[in-house]
Amino acid sequence: MEPVITRFPPSPTGSLHIGGARTALFNWLFARHHGGRFILRIEDTDVARSTEASIKAILDAMEWLELDWDEGPYYQTARLDIYREYLRKLLDSGHAYFCDCTPEELEKRRKEAMAAGRKPKYDGRCRDRGLGRGPHRVVRFRVPDSGTTVLNDLIKGPIFFENAELDDLVIERSDGIPTYNFAVVVDDVTMNISHVIRGDDHVNNTPRQILIYQALGIRLPFFAHVPMILGEDRTRLSKRHGATSVMAYKEMGYLPEALINYLVRLGWSHGDQEIFSRSELVEYFRLEDVGKSPGVFNPEKLLWLNAHYIKERSAESLVPVLRPFLDQRGCSAKSDGYLAEAIRTFQPRVHTLVEMADAMRVYFVEKVELDPAAAGKFLTEAMEEPFERLISAIEQMEDFRQESLESVFQQILNDMGLKFGKIAQPVRVALTGGTVSPGLFEMMGVMGKEAVLDRLKRGLEYIRSR
Ligand code: GLU
Repeated sequence: MEPVITRFPPSPTGSLHIGGARTALFNWLFARHHGGRFILRIEDTDVARSTEASIKAILDAMEWLELDWDEGPYYQTARLDIYREYLRKLLDSGHAYFCDCTPEELEKRRKEAMAAGRKPKYDGRCRDRGLGRGPHRVVRFRVPDSGTTVLNDLIKGPIFFENAELDDLVIERSDGIPTYNFAVVVDDVTMNISHVIRGDDHVNNTPRQILIYQALGIRLPFFAHVPMILGEDRTRLSKRHGATSVMAYKEMGYLPEALINYLVRLGWSHGDQEIFSRSELVEYFRLEDVGKSPGVFNPEKLLWLNAHYIKERSAESLVPVLRPFLDQRGCSAKSDGYLAEAIRTFQPRVHTLVEMADAMRVYFVEKVELDPAAAGKFLTEAMEEPFERLISAIEQMEDFRQESLESVFQQILNDMGLKFGKIAQPVRVALTGGTVSPGLFEMMGVMGKEAVLDRLKRGLEYIRSR
């Protein structure tokens, strides 16, 4: 088999979206599975809509997802000479011609054709006029009048197109810029792309591209068109269904491995397995296992996967990714070691880094703000004595560790004939302000003796002031 070379060619007219990221991932996985190469190419010939900011956003997202490329990024706007060279070949062989029909004339003839019950396609007026280059002239590709073009799609199977149905498409605009269908062929040819894997919104472009390959006398790559991603209402995924940009998920506190694992399962499967490491994906990925029906975007499943990966990762490795979220909340002045301890107490309890950072506030605030309802319910007079005893016992502790804390608590409970449940919530309220938190002892271990005493004392003050 020839070397596998795939590509991802986004148009930089916005950020990298879920659908684009999945396409990039499939191309990346296919190349890595076969020990081939993966090329990044920026399709920036739509000069009016392409922006630097969007290029940067796409590259950032690719890096965040760790979809590394072996070549590129190539920019189409830097390759105009190459397109011109191939255009010349098509003009010389009679497969392309100049056309000076104005948009107004085209529109008028289109309407006339429709009124007469004919197809509203380009009528071929300039085909044999022998026009040369000139202002306001485009170049069109001469599509055969008859015959069938077959797309042997690796996912969808063979698809047949009647050439008579296809227009003589414009391949170079009057400003000298090639159009997508032409530039993409030249790029794929000159970059020796072996497999074109892309969204099935491009199926209808493919016969046009195939005809251009044939006119150039160049062997076709393999094509694989992946079904679209739909929202839960089965319409094409869009903003209405929630965030669609990859980096929005980063900002919402998702881990890249969760998004990757989520994206790969939108249209690809490997038995019943749901959770895949990167190396498993590379090992298992095959186009034969890409489904024929569209994937449906399910935010709950993504959230579930994210919680899974937050739990799985080492607390130490979460420190640098959590820091920006803590910084945003003004909670950063702690060492990596402290943060790792604190993170460990929340890892099994949160779904996103945003939730984690919010929850971590309990470790940062100087003074806990008591939730009035929780304080009213749990910081009652009956707690005065247990709190007093706890405070004095903790003050005397030299070895403030989780295990020693447990025995201090146990001792007081025994002496007072109380059950743990009686004082757990009141202590939790005093320590955190509310009633939900990680395990009491792990949390106290992280807070440290000073903070624990300070908070219990404030709790006691509250009890006494009632
Ligand atoms: N720039 C095109 C897109 O973003 C690329 C299509 C292709 O892969 O050929 O859809």
